Amino acid sequence: MGDIVCKFGGSSLADANQIRKVGEIVDANPKRRFIVVSAPGKRHNKDDKVTNLLYQCHEAARRGNDITPTFRRVVERYETIAKNLGLCGVSEWLVELHDHISNMSFTRVSRDWLASRGEYLCAKLVAAYLKATFVDAGDGIFVESDGSLIEEQTYNALGKLLSGGGRYVIPGFYAAKPSGGISTFARGGSDITGSIVARAVKAEVYENWTDVPGILMADPNIVKNAQPILELTYGEMRELAYMGATALQHDAVFPVREASIPIHICNTNDPKSPGTWIFRERDPSHTPQVVVGVSGLKGYSVILVKQPLMTQEGGHGLRVLEALHRHGVRHEHAPSSIDSMSVIVKDEELQGKEKALLRDIQQFGAVETVKVMPDLALIAVVGLGMAHRAGIAARVFGALAKARVNIRMINQSASEINIMVGVVEEDFEKAIRAIYREFA
Ligand code: ASP
Repeated sequence: MGDIVCKFGGSSLADANQIRKVGEIVDANPKRRFIVVSAPGKRHNKDDKVTNLLYQCHEAARRGNDITPTFRRVVERYETIAKNLGLCGVSEWLVELHDHISNMSFTRVSRDWLASRGEYLCAKLVAAYLKATFVDAGDGIFVESDGSLIEEQTYNALGKLLSGGGRYVIPGFYAAKPSGGISTFARGGSDITGSIVARAVKAEVYENWTDVPGILMADPNIVKNAQPILELTYGEMRELAYMGATALQHDAVFPVREASIPIHICNTNDPKSPGTWIFRERDPSHTPQVVVGVSGLKGYSVILVKQPLMTQEGGHGLRVLEALHRHGVRHEHAPSSIDSMSVIVKDEELQGKEKALLRDIQQFGAVETVKVMPDLALIAVVGLGMAHRAGIAARVFGALAKARVNIRMINQSASEINIMVGVVEEDFEKAIRAIYREFA
């Protein structure tokens, strides 16, 4: 009998009522023995996530401001949950944390360590509620100083820590560094912890519990009543998540992918809904749509480099990309023509570096023009079913033409798993709706 790893997101842990639902879900299946938790999220639109409050505390301390009002709000969140769940002793940890922090200069507490306490305290609380064993992620998950997972050490240590019977609760979002400190994953990184735990215990399924009915074909803020996707591959999921689909952190597929452990995205507020399954492979004929989803993001720029006879001169692309690398600017795509090359980058990557980078590129022998064109939104049209099938790109472009959206950039890799289009930011929502209507 395989075990199930369940990761619950912040909205599933926002208050005592939500945590009761978590308890019912876990109780409903004895295979659900490994529970990974986020920090409590928003209870309503105007609320703050505990993680954000902790970041605010650190920022206030860094600026020499009083952290007490914000930290009080964190403490109150846990105290209220603990009281409403009838748990005693929880406030002892908070007192301990408060002492710990107030006895230390706040600026000497690392930002990552402080943020990680959101998950740490939540896991303590949920472990007490579920009568489960608490295992600290800092004792079993190890990352290099650049944040990459130290796989063998992690899977061995975590496997041992979680080898007994009964239930375990593990805080998400953070790991230990070789130097002994704590390092957090990217935002939404408890999904990554869940995947690491699933791999370590060789789980049958990694269940990821959120507040949406699975991965949707498009952002529901743009397309009302967007359809849920029933089945995806890890690759399709990554394409959609990287370009903005928020239900799963895009790096979370890596640990389970290597062990072919399926991910099931489920809804804590509607546990019986089918959710979305994510597998290594899938039979595209199961899903009638060739395109499974469309996602996208604003905030990109194009660096346009013009040079007559560019393609005849060997190494032109290398020089441009090397310049980006030297200036620490990561690029996303690089579509080109015979006399020019365009490099697509996120706006935030260029901040403070643009002038020096352009100057650098301009110095390459025959470069005629180099300029930055901002205001680009990228849209990924994703689906395994489009591979080796004629007419899909025509449908994407036809739908955009009908909606009077001008396409500024097109990119498709030979894997044919997605078609990327770039449009001006103003057309972004219109373009997403047009493509959704065409394929839903
Ligand atoms: N609490 C962290 C965040 O807000 C990690 C997570 O929820 O997955 O990003």
